[in-house]
Amino acid sequence: MDELKLLVELYRPMSRQGPGSHRTLERAVDLAGLDCSRRLRIADIGCGTGAASIELAGRLDAEIVAVDSLSPFLDELNERAQAAGVDGAITMLEASMEDLPFENGQFDVIWSEGAVYNMGFAAGVSAWLRLLKPEGVLVVSEITWLTADRPAEIDDFWTGEYPEIDVASAKIAQLENAGYSPRGYFTLPEPDWEEEFYEPLEVQLAELADRHQESATVSEIVESQRREIALQRRYRDYVSYGMYVATAA
Ligand code: SAH
Repeated sequence: MDELKLLVELYRPMSRQGPGSHRTLERAVDLAGLDCSRRLRIADIGCGTGAASIELAGRLDAEIVAVDSLSPFLDELNERAQAAGVDGAITMLEASMEDLPFENGQFDVIWSEGAVYNMGFAAGVSAWLRLLKPEGVLVVSEITWLTADRPAEIDDFWTGEYPEIDVASAKIAQLENAGYSPRGYFTLPEPDWEEEFYEPLEVQLAELADRHQESATVSEIVESQRREIALQRRYRDYVSYGMYVATAA
């Protein structure tokens, strides 16, 4: 069975496809200093099933374009947005983050949680700058080393998965070099990984394995996801997601 289809089957039932939480979103909204006195136009890039879009729509006076390359996630987002009564504020768009069909200067906020790695942080933040209005804000989360040094096992794993992984100071320099003015950075706390992401993911992994007992592809997916969870638990003092907030300079 096709691996992408299985990953969609695994992740679609989840309310988020990466670490994060309501509290973290609230903290990022505060750090971004969003002007809540007027209607904001927001792009949620790599929105998945819409954790951020739905929450932002409930919290702010906002018109949100939720972008993802996988239509089943957008279908799920649509159902969840309807259930939450915020579907009127969210437009869904199936598109690649590498080739967004927007005019320049359209957005007050570019929001992207756990997704920019798909095109690489440096390339992503550079390409998205043009979408922001003057003084628009970028809010982006990215896997980040928490210390200058780390054990070889976790270094090798992440460098293999995502060679662009780096410390926050390097990510912040990339934002500056791309033409942003950094406003702040914080790391996602432990419950954003455990309660919000890994615990529900472990439930889905067990159910996926149960539904496809004969599938070698499923075994490989389940094994590799469990290995990543175990590594994160072991090395959480060295690696987390960073939330970066920056304005168009
Ligand atoms: N922001 C969501 C989802 C994060 S998972 C959350 O925090 O829960 C990463 C998302 O990026 C997935 O939904 C995946 O389908 C999407 N994605 C991957 N490559 C993409 C691309 N090239 N263009 C747009 N979306 C992409």
